[in-house]
Amino acid sequence: MAIWEKLLGLMAGVDPLTAWIATFVIVGLLAGVFTGYLRARKIQPNGFKWRYFRRELCWAVVTLAVTGVVLGGASKWLQHAGLISFHHEPASPWVVAAEFALYFFAFDTWFYWLHRLMHKEPFYTWIHKIHHGSISPNPLTTFSESPLEGFVNGGFVPLFLALFTVHAETMAIITPFNVLMGLYVHSGFEFFPKWWNRSWLTKWFITATFHDQHHRYFKGNYGGYTTIWDRICGTVRPTFEADFENVTTRPLKPARPAFALKQRAEG
Ligand SMILES: [Zn+2]
Ligand SMILES: [Zn+2]
Repeated sequence: MAIWEKLLGLMAGVDPLTAWIATFVIVGLLAGVFTGYLRARKIQPNGFKWRYFRRELCWAVVTLAVTGVVLGGASKWLQHAGLISFHHEPASPWVVAAEFALYFFAFDTWFYWLHRLMHKEPFYTWIHKIHHGSISPNPLTTFSESPLEGFVNGGFVPLFLALFTVHAETMAIITPFNVLMGLYVHSGFEFFPKWWNRSWLTKWFITATFHDQHHRYFKGNYGGYTTIWDRICGTVRPTFEADFENVTTRPLKPARPAFALKQRAEG
C-alpha cells in the first residue's frame, strides 16, 4: 500500500473536530515559521538549551507519574468517601461560568501566596528549585517540577472540590484549562496582542512574557492566572509592561529560502 493511501486511511478514522484542530495547528506553525512571526515573538531569543530540556524531560516524567498516582488516588478516595461529588444535572452556561470563575480566582490566590512562600528558604530548595532549572522556559517546563511542588499546586483541585460542589461540566473545563494555561505561559513565545496591558479589561490577566520573566529574573511576577495579587503587593517587575511592548512590536523578518540568502551573500 502506498504511503498516501495509508495516510488517507488514518485520516478517515479521525473525528472532524480533531482533524480541524490538527490542521489549524500545523498550518499556523508553518505560517509562523515562514512569515518570521515565531522568530519575532520568541521572548528570549536563543534562550532554548537542549541540556536543560533533557533534565526537564526526566523531571516531567517522574513528577507526572508520582502526582498522577497520588493525586488521582486521593481524588478517587475522596469521591468514594463522599467528600467530593458533582452536580450531574445539566447546568446553564452562566452557572458553569460562575463556578469556573470561583475556581479561577481561588486558585490564583492559592498559587500566588504559596509561590511566594516557595521562594523563601528552606522551601525553595526543598520544593521549588527544580522548576527554576531553566531560565528560558519551553512547554516542557510546565511539568518540570519536584513531586512536592506537584502536590502543592495540583492538590488545590481536590481541596476545592471537597469545599465546593460544582457541576460535572465545570470540572470538565478545569483540568484542560490548567494544562493549556501552563503550556502557554511556559511556551517561550508571546502570542498576545500589543494592547493587552494597555486595556483596563485585559491587563489583569497574565501573558507568557509575564511568567517568562519570572523564570528569567527569578524575582517578581509570581501570579499564576492574574496580575491582581502582584499589582496589589507591588511585585510586578518594573520593566514588565515596556518589555511586553517590545516583544509584541518586533518587526517580522520572513524566513528566506537558503538559495536566496546564498545569492545575496555572493552578490
Ligand atoms: Zn518561582
Ligand atoms: Zn514556571
